[in-house]
Amino acid sequence: MAAYDFDLVTIGAGSGGVRATRMAAQYGAKAAVVEEYRVGGTCVIRGCVPKKLMVYASRYAEDIEDAAGFGWHVPHKHFDWTTLIANKDREIGRLEALYRRNLETAGATTFEDRAVLRDPHTVHLLKADKTITAKTVLIATGGRAWIPEEIEGGDLAITSNEVFHLKELPKCVMIVGGGYIAVEFAGVFKGLGARTIVVHHGDEILRGFDGEIRKRMRHEMQKRGIDVHLKSVVASIHAEDGRKRVRLKDGTEHIVDEIVFAVGRRPNTMGLGLEHCGVELTDMRAVAVDAFSRSTQGNVYAVGDVTNRANLTPVAIREGAAFADTVFNDTPTAVDHADIPTAVFGAPEIGVVGLTEEAARAQFAKVDIYKAAFRPMRATMSGRDTLIFMKLVVDGASERVLGCHILGEAAAEMAQCVAIAVKMKATKRDFDATMALHPTAGEELVLLRTKI
Ligand code: NDP
Repeated sequence: MAAYDFDLVTIGAGSGGVRATRMAAQYGAKAAVVEEYRVGGTCVIRGCVPKKLMVYASRYAEDIEDAAGFGWHVPHKHFDWTTLIANKDREIGRLEALYRRNLETAGATTFEDRAVLRDPHTVHLLKADKTITAKTVLIATGGRAWIPEEIEGGDLAITSNEVFHLKELPKCVMIVGGGYIAVEFAGVFKGLGARTIVVHHGDEILRGFDGEIRKRMRHEMQKRGIDVHLKSVVASIHAEDGRKRVRLKDGTEHIVDEIVFAVGRRPNTMGLGLEHCGVELTDMRAVAVDAFSRSTQGNVYAVGDVTNRANLTPVAIREGAAFADTVFNDTPTAVDHADIPTAVFGAPEIGVVGLTEEAARAQFAKVDIYKAAFRPMRATMSGRDTLIFMKLVVDGASERVLGCHILGEAAAEMAQCVAIAVKMKATKRDFDATMALHPTAGEELVLLRTKI
């Protein structure tokens, strides 16, 4: 008789957990995954996927306006929130079913339950009130949104979780934060027609991004009518006639329909019983892991946002796959976290890969910068006041392209392709030797000749 019920029990059926469990099962392991909410995790259920669908929805507003310069006359435009949410929910339901089917086809068992570790090999399923045992446990519980506890009336605010299920489009929305979610939802709400206010505690949005991209992005958001307040902090929220009166610490007040906190996500390690099982947590309460995603308890591993390494879906998927290869396919695999491309699907879009100018200058003796800011071809006819901005950060000694930063139409798509070149350690000469594809915005990346 087997010593354990399962070779692998994964807690959390998000991007990382599902990939790891499926691959382990395909390698012949008896695998199970426990999920308390919906299969698919943050990305599929209340993150990247529904967000991108809403970003598409919001962009039609500008597309319809821009169409006029090309001869289109669209006399009546009307947006219906209920249709968007219903269609989005249908698509998310389809994807969730696909995720479930993929687990089933691989031969993995799914428990719809909340899991708590009783010891390193024993998982208690709370709803069913039964325990299952596993040789290896994988923690893939992701992160969770939070609202600062000290804010008076904080319970009147919502997070990105609730945005996807609002009954109606708020007429006026305040978004607190200056990171990915704040910038993306500001673009969505503004595009859909809401008055949009961003309140950010820092002196510039998008900390960690290239300085010029941060500043230009804020200007572009302001040009679109998004009201951005820097160095601003929410003091209190009070309900008033079905709306919310928000007071900022500088004393100014705003009446809004919704206030959304997008102030980062915290590793979802609460109440999992990890501390009693020899699994050490970091200061941020993330699971501390080594390069192979192994925790301080030898048979317990963790992947994805719960480890707070690079909190992005493709990274979690890679980490899940590497875990399965390491533990169930006899191929120890560490994930390379360098040069991860990333995008902010705001209005406009940002796509980046590699080092910012600031980071490169801190690491390399001589850094060359090549950049361009130009009007996208479409805007010449639509008349829209917008620019595409591109910057290449190059090591002056080796000529290796260390970073590429793009703001504007199709930035994310371009960044994904340039990421291959950056990962291959392409030099500026390689970029110069590449023939331009005309007429595109991307051709500028191989036509940048003047060092700034
Ligand atoms: P981010 O970490 O991107 O941004 C959090 C923002 O909140 C920052 O601007 C930060 O400011 C601010 N902040 C932090 N603490 C406080 C506080 N106590 N009060 C007020 N403001 C505060 O997190 P998000 O919530 O935007 O996104 C969560 C995660 O989801 C991110 O890790 C991101 O990787 C991922 N994500 C990725 C997307 C994508 O790939 N396109 C899209 C959406 C989310 P500062 O840093 O200046 O201190």
